[in-house]
Formats: sequence, C-alpha cells, structure tokens
Amino acid sequence: MSFPCTSCGACCRDVKIFDNYPTLKGILAYKEDGSCVNLTEDNLCAIYDTRPELCRIPQGLSRRMLLGTAHECNRLQEKYGIGEEYRVTVGETEGSPSPLYLTPHQEAEAFWAVFSSKASKDQQQKGD
Ligand code: SF4
Ligand code: SF4
Repeated sequence: MSFPCTSCGACCRDVKIFDNYPTLKGILAYKEDGSCVNLTEDNLCAIYDTRPELCRIPQGLSRRMLLGTAHECNRLQEKYGIGEEYRVTVGETEGSPSPLYLTPHQEAEAFWAVFSSKASKDQQQKGD
C-alpha cells in the first residue's frame, strides 16, 4: 500500500530541523522561517518530480510504519493549523502486515536505516 499523503505540505514547513542530524544536514535549503525553499504558497512542492530521496515515502512500509507516519502527519497538521480535510487515515482493513515480525525497536532501526541510505544518496547527488 502506498502512503495516502494528502499533500498538505506540513512536513515541508520545518526542514531546518534536519540540521540537527549530521547525515541530513544541508540536504534541503530553507527560508528564514525554517520552511523548505521549494514549498510554494499553495503548499505544493516546486520540484516535486526531482525532489530529494529524503522527501519520498518508501513503498512497502509495514502497517505499523504507515500508522506511525500518518500520526506524525496529523500531529504536524494540528501544529500548523491545517484544515481537518487534510488528515491522513490508514484504513482499518487496508495494508498488509510486515512479512517478518519486528519489534518496535527493530522497526525503528529499519526505518532509520532507510532514511540514512536515502540521505546519503542525496548527499552524493549534492556532491556531484
Ligand atoms: S505531512 Fe504527511 S500528508 Fe502532509 S504532505 Fe507531508 S507526507 Fe503528505
Ligand atoms: S523539496 Fe519539496 S517535498 Fe521536499 S521538503 Fe521541499 S517542498 Fe517538501
């Protein structure tokens, strides 16, 4: 199942936060308010087709990861006062469970590994 992103733009509003992580630092340029330079006034991405790997939600996330990501999207939407029509829901019967049983800790590590590898691709591209 793909992640049902509602294109609210909330996750692009504070990319300055990535400066706190050495592997993610500098991947996305940001404006004075910390939002991505590529975020348009209507909350869309000006470089959507060529956006960094870091901005792409991987396919094949386990149900737990989908739910966790949706929860984070909705938390950010509330933080930024974005309308309820943008809330992300992951249907009760949709999605497929992870084929392997992973503890939450292992799953968090797997998620971080995916992010780190995506970030290192972005860093390589910046260096090219
Ligand atoms: S916060 Fe979530 S729903 Fe909104 S644009 Fe980002 S990924 Fe999509
Ligand atoms: S590059 Fe696009 S998708 Fe990525 S944070 Fe910026 S506006 Fe959002």
